[in-house]
Amino acid sequence: MQNIDNYNFTGKRAIVRVDFNVPLNESFQITDDTRIRAAIPTLKKVLEKGGSLIIMSHLGRPKGPTDKYSLKHIIPAIEEKLGAKVKFATDCMGEDAKELSASLKPGEVLLLENLRFYAEEEGKPRGLAEDVTDEVKKAAKAEMKEKQKEFTKKLASYADCYINDAFGTAHRAHASTALIAKHFPNDKMFGYVMEGEIKAIDKVLKSPEHPVTAIIGGAKVSSKIAIIEKLFDVVDNMIIGGGMVFTFVKAQGGKIGNSLCEEDQMELALSILEKAKAKGVKLYYSGEVIAADSFSNDAKTVICPDNNIPEGWLGMDAAPSTLKEWEEVLRASKTVLWNGPVGVFEMPAFANGTNKIAEILADITSHGVFTLVGGGDSVAAVTQMGFANKVSYVSTGGGAMLEYLEGIELPGIAAIKES
Ligand code: AMP
Repeated sequence: MQNIDNYNFTGKRAIVRVDFNVPLNESFQITDDTRIRAAIPTLKKVLEKGGSLIIMSHLGRPKGPTDKYSLKHIIPAIEEKLGAKVKFATDCMGEDAKELSASLKPGEVLLLENLRFYAEEEGKPRGLAEDVTDEVKKAAKAEMKEKQKEFTKKLASYADCYINDAFGTAHRAHASTALIAKHFPNDKMFGYVMEGEIKAIDKVLKSPEHPVTAIIGGAKVSSKIAIIEKLFDVVDNMIIGGGMVFTFVKAQGGKIGNSLCEEDQMELALSILEKAKAKGVKLYYSGEVIAADSFSNDAKTVICPDNNIPEGWLGMDAAPSTLKEWEEVLRASKTVLWNGPVGVFEMPAFANGTNKIAEILADITSHGVFTLVGGGDSVAAVTQMGFANKVSYVSTGGGAMLEYLEGIELPGIAAIKES
């Protein structure tokens, strides 16, 4: 397999799929540039090795060309971080994209406008009325498939080699993340972000040092079931926190007041408890919580057992006693995976548990524990606390990371690997 380090980029144009889907505020300022910073080593390497760059990405979920989702807003940030001038093709299928890419000289950089301005990128027909017949839907899909082939072929025609460095979209079989690879059978490779993500997750899934502990938090059991079950094959301990806890507690007859609960997942929650037992995984999902009398930052609070929350109150964060128990488990671990906040961390009054986990992970990393943090909100927490560089690896791909952890082969990875 090719990789960036062994590939000869001299005089070659590399088309690189990056994940520059960064959050922008109302004045189009980037509020978190993590994804841009992450892609810079790959981009710099190509330039250093005598190649030129055609950068492509999506931004947001546009339904067609709109100023709001134009990648032009992030050009200054790319130029500043890459230390190179960036040319811009205002239409990724336009004449300017073709001409600018054809005339690229070594060391030059071209950015293509948002790929999702074209429905072909995702391959889903747009603008179909809801009440159309199945036949019409089928015809539109078939037509889109053909158009997508043309779209992909045209993108590929801009370059001599293809690099996929967009882990965040690797779980989607889109034109630029998977389909394009077949146009470069001998000239396709992962970027450093992809390589790093795969290596870090494989280290946890395939060759972890034990004991392994996973902390799974967040709002919904339903969105985490698959990952929880898959991780039972790997971990020795699992800490379940956040809003998910209450579905487990209620399923066992606990009183959870108005806490978050997915009634239709209670049976599944019980079966998870059984499975953990059968696999010998030690589960930590219960303890004291900080409950509030309303879902607000300035609510009144009380500490109580999570199975005895007063009527009308809601569990919002892990209590100090629970955090202490978790800390002991984490400090005795050699490998830790963290996905999802353990409280409503967007509200400062209920961010203590999540912040404490970030702090513990940073500390145990300095003592040689391998710590992998993934999933939008837990990443936001470690970044907010300034600990992003103090854990072993921060995954930038939320959904993609979850699917990879679940054992699903990601199209973006398969397309590079297959010959
Ligand atoms: P997820 O995207 O599933 O990882 O969920 C993240 C969300 O879970 C965040 O917005 C948190 O505010 C929320 N969350 C964490 N703990 C709780 C809780 N005890 N009650 C309600 N929401 C929670």
